[in-house]
Amino acid sequence: MSDAAREEDLFLRIIAGEIPADVVHSDDLVVAFRDIAPKADTHVLVVPRERYPDVPALAAAAPQTLAHVVAVAKRIADAECGGEFRLVFNTGASAGQTVFHVHAHVLGGKGLAFTDL
Ligand code: 5GP
Repeated sequence: MSDAAREEDLFLRIIAGEIPADVVHSDDLVVAFRDIAPKADTHVLVVPRERYPDVPALAAAAPQTLAHVVAVAKRIADAECGGEFRLVFNTGASAGQTVFHVHAHVLGGKGLAFTDL
């Protein structure tokens, strides 16, 4: 990944360790870290290392990575909130997406209300 791409992609900078984050899982395909502004007791972002703008692009180009995102979300929920969780992919600015590097919000535990993300 070029320096210019990393510069404009917050999550690539977190994955590269340039911006600190509370990482809860890391492997060849994804990195998972706690959201800086949690909306529930558990609020973790699962982020593919490879850069796709949103979940339809990820599903089209790398469906096995999308399946892995869901498996990692389940693993986090098993560890933190009894295996029950909400998985959210905001897709597009009008739907609340602010970071255009695909990421799954894993939400669970107390404080999980139906809120805007
Ligand atoms: P989106 O709005 O794109 O669906 O989600 C982006 C998420 O990234 C938001 O929930 C926001 O709180 C989180 N976020 C933004 N900047 C940072 C950061 O620097 N560190 C972490 N850990 N999360 C961030």
